[in-house]
Amino acid sequence: MKELSTIPVPVYVDFDDVLCETARGLIDVIDEHFGRSIEFEDIHSFDLALSFGLDEHELARLMEFAHTADILTAFAPVKGAVETLRDWAGRGARIWIVTGRPPLTEDASVEWLQRYGVPYERLIFVDKYGRFKADVHGAALTLDELSQLPFSLAIDDAPQMALYLSETMHVETVMLDRPWNRGIQLSGSVTRCFNWAEIALLLPSSGFMA
Ligand SMILES: [Mg+2]
Repeated sequence: MKELSTIPVPVYVDFDDVLCETARGLIDVIDEHFGRSIEFEDIHSFDLALSFGLDEHELARLMEFAHTADILTAFAPVKGAVETLRDWAGRGARIWIVTGRPPLTEDASVEWLQRYGVPYERLIFVDKYGRFKADVHGAALTLDELSQLPFSLAIDDAPQMALYLSETMHVETVMLDRPWNRGIQLSGSVTRCFNWAEIALLLPSSGFMA
């Protein structure tokens, strides 16, 4: 049996807009189904209703589309993400994908991960924004439950998750630069990276086998 200290601490990797180009995919959905054209660089808020100029009903419709397997499996990978994770996994890192998608998207999410050959040990669903109803969305971890898990490094694009990871969970955190997080002041323990080539240079000290 291995000594506990030789087991690497997992790396937290967000799914949407970190591993796959979700916002760009949703722009196409909005164009097709709502007849509205939006530029990626104009998505200035993490609040989709605000960013896309949708009312409550339109947002609900968009989320219905967004959680269907056809849409979820069609998102393109973010450049460099899969290659970097394969490299890290090959060097002994443990990859845990931590998503704010509802658990009912599990099959489509796994299909996407398998299609692109993403190496991962766990796919964890977390109610990151306090929006889920268990009977509708399935059972997800709470933020409190997430905070009990150990991570050596975390990569997310959502400003409030980056703050939670760094300030509440004390995890070294990368915020992948996206138009909706550009106005956010980062605390000292959050690093803004502009692409996966930059993220690839980070070597979480305890995230790899010695
Ligand atoms: Mg995300």
